[in-house]
Amino acid sequence: MRPTGDVLLLTPGPTPIHPRALAAMQWPMRGHMDPDVFAANDRIVADLLELYGAAPDAFASLLSGTGSLGMEAGLANLLEPGQRLVVASNGVFGERMVTMGERLGAAVHVVRAPLGEPIDVDAVMASVDQVDPAVLAVVHGETSTGVINPVPELAARMQGRDTLFTVDAVTTVGMMPFDMAGWGIDYAYTGSQKCLSAPPGLAPVVYSRRAMERIAQRETPVVTWYADAVGMQAYWNPDGPRAYHHTVPVQLHWATGEAIRAALEEGLDVRAARVARLERAIVQTLEPLGFTPAVAAPHRLPSVLAMTLPEGLDDAAVRDELRNQHHVSLAGGLGPTAGKIWRLGLMGESAHPWHYQRLMTALAELLDAPDLPERFREAVARTHPERPAMVMQHA
Ligand code: PLP
Repeated sequence: MRPTGDVLLLTPGPTPIHPRALAAMQWPMRGHMDPDVFAANDRIVADLLELYGAAPDAFASLLSGTGSLGMEAGLANLLEPGQRLVVASNGVFGERMVTMGERLGAAVHVVRAPLGEPIDVDAVMASVDQVDPAVLAVVHGETSTGVINPVPELAARMQGRDTLFTVDAVTTVGMMPFDMAGWGIDYAYTGSQKCLSAPPGLAPVVYSRRAMERIAQRETPVVTWYADAVGMQAYWNPDGPRAYHHTVPVQLHWATGEAIRAALEEGLDVRAARVARLERAIVQTLEPLGFTPAVAAPHRLPSVLAMTLPEGLDDAAVRDELRNQHHVSLAGGLGPTAGKIWRLGLMGESAHPWHYQRLMTALAELLDAPDLPERFREAVARTHPERPAMVMQHA
C-alpha cells in the first residue's frame, strides 16, 4: 500500500533522502556485472576513501545490508574463534558489538562507561594492556545516548600495537571530522541511511591494508560467507578481473554513490559546521522551555542531539501528535532513557534549519509556546551570522 503525504524524518536515522539519491533510484536497471555498475563502483570506492580519510591502499566497498552488517562483518573478518576482543561500551550499540563478538566465539572483555558519559581512555587502555586483544572496538557516536567518544585520543594511544582498532562511524562519518589514516583506524563502517541520506540497505565499509593483511593470515575461514572481505574484494577489485560474489542492489548503489558525491561536493568541513551551528540554535531555542542537553558540551554528539525532556512533558503523547497531526517523526530515548529524552537527528539532510523550523512551528502549538518559531529564527540568525536572512528559505 502506497503511503500518502510526506513525513519529515528528524529521527537519528533514517534521514530524509537526498534529492540526488532519490533521483538515482530511478536510473535504469543494470546487471550487477555490467560495466556501468563497475564504473559506478569504482567511483564509489574512490569517494569512500576520501569520505573516511582512508589511505589509498585501504579496501573500501559497500556491503549489501544495513549498518549492523558493517559491524558484524568487521568483527567476523578480524576475529577468529577464541581470540580476544575488547569493547569500549557506553550504550546500546557498544552492547550490540559485545553480543556479536560473543556469538562469533571471541573472548569478549567489556570496558563500560556510564550511559551519557564518554568512554574513559585510561580505563580502555588498561584493559588493552592487560588483555592484549586481537581487536579493540568502539562506537564513535553512541546514538542511544548522544555521546561522542574520544576516538582520536584512543587511536593515538593505540599507535604501535598489534591490536586492530575498529570504529563504528555510523553517526559520524560524512558529518563530523573522520580521519581513518591519520588516526590509524583499521576498520570503519556506516549505514547508507545515516549521515549520507541515502535509503537504508547498504553499509559503506573500509578496511585498512593492515586489516586486510591480518585477514589473509587467518587460520580459520571467516564464519560469514556473505560478508567475507576477501570474497567481496574479488567483486570490487578495481585492478583486476571482477568475480561474481552476490547480486548487489544496483539501485541502492546508484543512490548511495550519488549521496556520497553530494556530501563530498558540499565539503566535509562545511557539513561539520552545518550540524554544529544547527545544534547550537536548537539548544538555545529549546532551553527556555525546560529542555536541557542530556550530555555535557564537550562530549555531545551534534549529529544526534539528546535533549532531556521538561518535567511533566508526556513524551509518547507529544510525539504521537507530532507524527499524526504535524507529520514530523521524532525519536525518544532507547532503553533506560525511554520517556526521558528526545534524540533529534541532525545527520545529512535532516540537518537543515528549515526542517527544524517546521518542528518548532509544530511544538509551538503542542507546547503552547507561540514564540518558539521566532526564537528559533533568531537563534539561527545568531549561529549563521554571515547569512542571517537565510538558510530557512528552502522547501
Ligand atoms: N551503530 C550505530 C552507532 C547506530 O546508530 C546504528 C543504527 O542506528 C547501528 C550501528 C546499526 O545500524 P542499522 O540499524 O543500519 O543496522
